[in-house]
Amino acid sequence: MKITDIKITPFRTYVDRYRNAEPLPQTEIIQTLTTIETDEGVAGHYLGGQGHGDQDGMGSASREFILTRIRELLVGQNPFDREKFWQWMWVSKTPENVMGVIDMALWDLAGNYAGMPVYQMLGGCRDKVKAYASTYPNMGSVENYVEHAIACREQGYQAYKIHPYYFWNPETGRQVPGRPSHIKHDIELIHAVADAVGDSMVLMYDPWGTYHTVEEALVVGRELEKRNYYWFEHPMPEERVDAYQRLSDELTIPICSPEILAGHVFTRADWVKRGAADISRIDVLRGGITAVKKTVNVCEAYGVKCEIHMSGIGNLHVLGSSSEDTCEYYERGLLAPGVDYNSTPPYLEASLDPMDAEGYVHLPSRPGLGYSFIWDYISEHRAEGAEHMSLGYWARG
Ligand SMILES: [Mg+2]
Repeated sequence: MKITDIKITPFRTYVDRYRNAEPLPQTEIIQTLTTIETDEGVAGHYLGGQGHGDQDGMGSASREFILTRIRELLVGQNPFDREKFWQWMWVSKTPENVMGVIDMALWDLAGNYAGMPVYQMLGGCRDKVKAYASTYPNMGSVENYVEHAIACREQGYQAYKIHPYYFWNPETGRQVPGRPSHIKHDIELIHAVADAVGDSMVLMYDPWGTYHTVEEALVVGRELEKRNYYWFEHPMPEERVDAYQRLSDELTIPICSPEILAGHVFTRADWVKRGAADISRIDVLRGGITAVKKTVNVCEAYGVKCEIHMSGIGNLHVLGSSSEDTCEYYERGLLAPGVDYNSTPPYLEASLDPMDAEGYVHLPSRPGLGYSFIWDYISEHRAEGAEHMSLGYWARG
C-alpha cells in the first residue's frame, strides 16, 4: 500500500465557548479535517490539531507545513511505517502539533484497514476511563465554581479540576496581562470548593503556570495539602526545571508537570530522571499517539504516573491502551456554566467522548479513531482560506 495524497478540509462550524465569566454560546470556529489517502482506497483522518482537544482546526501555518513539506515526504511511502515517519519528523524539527496530526491520521488509517479500534491495535487495556470535569479559568465568583462543581457531581463526575483566576482580576472583572495570578482569590476558591464537594469528589488544581515564583507556588500548595487535593498541576512556568525540583522537594502534594513544555518524550524523560515533578504529563498534540505512548512507557518503567493532558480522541485511545496505575484520568472539558459540552458536534454522528452516569468515558468500538462523519455537513460548510482564531485567556475583549 502507498500513500497517494494528503488533504486538509477546513470547514465552518459552531461550538459553545466561555471567556472571563461569560458564556459564548455557538461561537463560530474553523475546524480542519486532515485526510491521508492510499492507492488501495483506505484512508485515515484526524479532526482538529490546535488548541484544547479536538474542536479547534489548525491555523494556516500548520496547514501549509503539512501540504508542502509533509506531503512531499510521505506520498509514495507505506502508510504503516509510522515509527519511521515519526523519526523523520522529529529530526527535521516538525512542529509537535503537526507531528501529532499526521501520526494520528496514520493510526486511524491502520485501524480502518484492520477493522479495529486504535486502542486495541496499541494493546487494549480497558474500554472505559474515569473522567474529571475540567473547568474553564476565570469562572466569575467563588459561588459560581461551587455551584458548577455540584452540578458536575450530579452529572456523574467523580473528580473536578479547578482552573482558577489568571490574567483576569475577579474583583474588577478586568484582564491583567502583566500580573497573571490572583493568589488570595485562588486560595478562597480552593477552600470553598473543598468545603462543598471535597468529601465526595477527587479535586485537582491547575493555575496553568501563572505563579511566577517558588514562594507563590508554595503558599498555594500548602493550602491544597490542607484540603487533600489530589495533584497540583503546572504551578509555574515550565522552563525552570530547578524551581520545580525545589517545589517538589518542599511539598507533599504531587506536582503534575510539564504539560506544555516542548520536547515531548525527551523533556518528560529528563524531568522524571531529575525528580522535577511527581506526575508527568503530555498529550497527543505534542508528537502524536506515538510520542505519548513512548512517554507512558518511560513513566511506567520509573514508577511515575503520566496523567494525559486535555480531552481528545487520540488521548482517549492512549488511555484505553494504558494501565490505570500509570494513566488514571481522562480530562473532560473545558466546562463552564452555560457551556454544553455533551452535545454531539454537528459534523459527527456520535460524540467522541461520551460519559456515563458513573463518570466513565467509553472507548469507541468503531475501527480506527472511531469517527462517524456527516460528510454532507462538512462539504456544505467548506471554508477554504478561512483562518481559525482560538480564544486566548489573556485576549482583550
Ligand atoms: Mg492543565
